[in-house]
Amino acid sequence: MTFARCSLLALCFTILLACVAPRIMNVPRVHAQPAATQPAPAAANPQPAYSLPADKLAKAIALSRIRNIMDIVGSLWGLAVIWLLLSTRAAAGLGAWAERTSARRWIQGLVFFAAYLLITALASMPLDWFTQHEDRSYGISVQGWGSWLGDEAKSLGLTLVFGSLVLLLFNWIVRRWPRRYWFGLWVATVPLLVLSIFVGPLLAPIFNKFEPLSKDHATLVTELEKVVARTGTNIPPDRMFLMKASVKTNGLNAYVSGIGATKRIVVWDTTAGRVPDDEVMFIFGHESGHYVLHHIPKMIAGMAIALFFVYWACAGFAAWLARRYGPRWKLGGLEEGTPLASRAGFIVLLFAISVAGFVLEPVSNTFSRHFEHQADVYGQEAIHGIVADPQNTAVSAFNHLGEAWLEDPDPSPFIEFWEYNHPSVENRANFAQRYNPWANGGHGQFFDK
Ligand SMILES: [Zn+2]
Repeated sequence: MTFARCSLLALCFTILLACVAPRIMNVPRVHAQPAATQPAPAAANPQPAYSLPADKLAKAIALSRIRNIMDIVGSLWGLAVIWLLLSTRAAAGLGAWAERTSARRWIQGLVFFAAYLLITALASMPLDWFTQHEDRSYGISVQGWGSWLGDEAKSLGLTLVFGSLVLLLFNWIVRRWPRRYWFGLWVATVPLLVLSIFVGPLLAPIFNKFEPLSKDHATLVTELEKVVARTGTNIPPDRMFLMKASVKTNGLNAYVSGIGATKRIVVWDTTAGRVPDDEVMFIFGHESGHYVLHHIPKMIAGMAIALFFVYWACAGFAAWLARRYGPRWKLGGLEEGTPLASRAGFIVLLFAISVAGFVLEPVSNTFSRHFEHQADVYGQEAIHGIVADPQNTAVSAFNHLGEAWLEDPDPSPFIEFWEYNHPSVENRANFAQRYNPWANGGHGQFFDK
């Protein structure tokens, strides 16, 4: 539910993968930007709604190529690492080693899964490093290497603590119900998904500083309360936060996160104060749209339905892999009735789920883009009657967004389909420029006037 990157579904999947196969994540996603001082176009060739000055355009194209490649490479590398752990029998060796560390099964399990998570995390570090290196060289990241390493260490710590526990639980479910375990995994995943969304905002301060938005942006909060009144949302100022992103990035963003008691709207300090208040109101309207249109619960429901089938299919795929390669990979676990019940065998299941995550990425992104588009429509309608010109406000906001992240103004439709969890900035700006349902006395989709 961010304005810029990371959609909810992607978030859910990321959380899930963070639990299940922590390192198969997307590298950051980006796009291109605006020519703030361009004169109004002549009638013949209207200016595209989103454009970049020449120097930034070249950078945006180069950077988006790197990002697109890193997206795919990161996913495939994550899969390759798991496959290598299995095929070199390192997973089996790790299982045997873990059994010697303690007489207690659950301690053996924790040791095994922590080691597995550590190995996969370390294996992805070169890619993380490269992504950060590129973001720094293109001026998007301003984070020093010490701070970056600190974030990596914290994220690894969280992964080890929570990931090991989740994998231990999942492995136990497989052993307990070797035939119908996929259903057990599904039953366990849904509350974990809800829980992870609930605690997300509570963990966020580990990485970034937050303060009440009203602290330094009281005027902005007053403006935002007009949007709150128009949208009928119950978002009191104490649910509005400013995130100190500027110590790490030049990118713009805002997002909604949490659920129930932890639900909140967060605006980055690279956004509030740096782009005009009207545009922040539009961004806030977009985020409010995610609230009002219940995108978080809908995403959870969608994930739950999808995972039912994903787990079922993965169980079949993993069983086939285990039958075919089990002896060669020395998976063991036959006393439980399925090689997947052993710890090394369980890694086969993680591999199957990771493959599904990769293959289904375009599906989850398609849903995400739909929700993001709805939120864009909602945002533009939410500021109607509050800002002078909602169309231009939205177009300008997208141009600021695209420039800050160096978003490609003309991405390939295939790349957009596969990798983008938001519509491209080009498509968002084009839509905003055209969208004026009030023109002939009409009204929008979400408001009566
Ligand atoms: Zn959004």
